[in-house]
Amino acid sequence: MQTTEINGFQIEHFNQHDLPVGKPEGICPVCSEHRKPENKKAKCASYDWERGLGTCHHCSNTFQLHTYQRKGNAEKIYIKPEPIQPKEVSTKVQQWFQSRGISNDTLKALKVTEGKEFMPQTGKEENAIHFNYFMGDELINVKYRDGRKNFKLYKGAEKVFYNINAIVGYEYCVIVEGEMDALSLHEAGIPNVVSVPNGATLGTNNLDYLDNCIDYFTDKEKVILALDGDEAGQALQNEFIRRLGAEVCFIATFDDCKDSNEYLLNMEKKVWRSVLPPPSQFHSKELQPSKTLKMKLQTSLEMVSNLATKWALKILTIFLVLIPVSLLLLLVYLVVASLILLIRWSLVII
Ligand SMILES: [Zn+2]
Repeated sequence: MQTTEINGFQIEHFNQHDLPVGKPEGICPVCSEHRKPENKKAKCASYDWERGLGTCHHCSNTFQLHTYQRKGNAEKIYIKPEPIQPKEVSTKVQQWFQSRGISNDTLKALKVTEGKEFMPQTGKEENAIHFNYFMGDELINVKYRDGRKNFKLYKGAEKVFYNINAIVGYEYCVIVEGEMDALSLHEAGIPNVVSVPNGATLGTNNLDYLDNCIDYFTDKEKVILALDGDEAGQALQNEFIRRLGAEVCFIATFDDCKDSNEYLLNMEKKVWRSVLPPPSQFHSKELQPSKTLKMKLQTSLEMVSNLATKWALKILTIFLVLIPVSLLLLLVYLVVASLILLIRWSLVII
């Protein structure tokens, strides 16, 4: 059994949930506590001590058996926020998240906190939600969000993925465009999700956070890009495909929904789960969406070919428009020229 290191990741806190070490099954750290008294001790989860992951057959969640130290170093020295003591958020904040389909358990798991923070957009201190960016047990950055949807990152802090600790040990992970989307996927039973720190832009997307976290992706067989459907999201998607390689990138689209939070609100949790199978089944199952599901996954290779077809069609359309226009111009020219000739001839005859 691995007690110090798994797949190049140094274990920080071995057996973080105090489960029976070395045993193949036992209680689930996610749901057992909330079950009926007679089921609290049911062995509903199986543990894979070699990979450091557990799977629950009751709530279908997967979970990390250990915590890990940061893998890889930052390229330079950055300012770090003060370490925090995670504590429960207020009822008001809980209700706000609940209205968006996010439970208190998810807020705790992703160490979301709240507090006063100066927001430059309003020029004063505001009550803000704090999305804490951890790598290992170190707080690397904080994203603040106030009630008016103003955002701010910790000044001078290193840019990394949000929730990066969560993808250790899994063969695949999902990349989303915001913290709310990461919380939504966690809520839907997909804990191995990370979010980019600063959204997508139409211009060049600076992926320095990928450089700072690249060691977390080297063992991934599949990286699922679940980015927004707008142009900026697509630009970011293409940049990820370029950087990570088309052979590992898979694309998730949300049909009519604008992002994964909206998708969560509209869809049953089980839809998400059946689209992204738990890691234990991932080896044997290809990532093929069922036809009845609204969500579609296609390989990035297909996407690139779709893009090529789109451009070819555009060029064809331009040609198809240009040809009749030039023919019309030619016709007009011929008519005018023959009229002039006719007038000249008639003048000569006269
Ligand atoms: Zn469970």
